[in-house]
Amino acid sequence: MYRRLLARHRLKLRYWSLWISHHRNGRETGPRPILALHRLPDPHCTDCDGKGQVMSGVPGADEPDFDDCPCAPFLPLAWIWLPKPPGWARRSRRIAYNDEPPF
Ligand SMILES: [Zn+2]
Repeated sequence: MYRRLLARHRLKLRYWSLWISHHRNGRETGPRPILALHRLPDPHCTDCDGKGQVMSGVPGADEPDFDDCPCAPFLPLAWIWLPKPPGWARRSRRIAYNDEPPF
């Protein structure tokens, strides 16, 4: 039922397992899981036709780039921090994010 209510207001709840929040003073919070409230694309938007993305490619480039349309910003409107994942999940994350060269 709340789903229909959210849809009417173009809102959607989304879970992010590794969210990092940047503060104005340069510090970060996270990565931690959050439950975020996102704005859905406006179906009558003239910029993106309700897709939520607009083409932003450089003329002459091989592949066009896509940017978030102003009607559906990537950043959530609001979010709540969730408890940190258990230790085994953090350990596997560190492996997944290890991009140092192998030497
Ligand atoms: Zn739009």
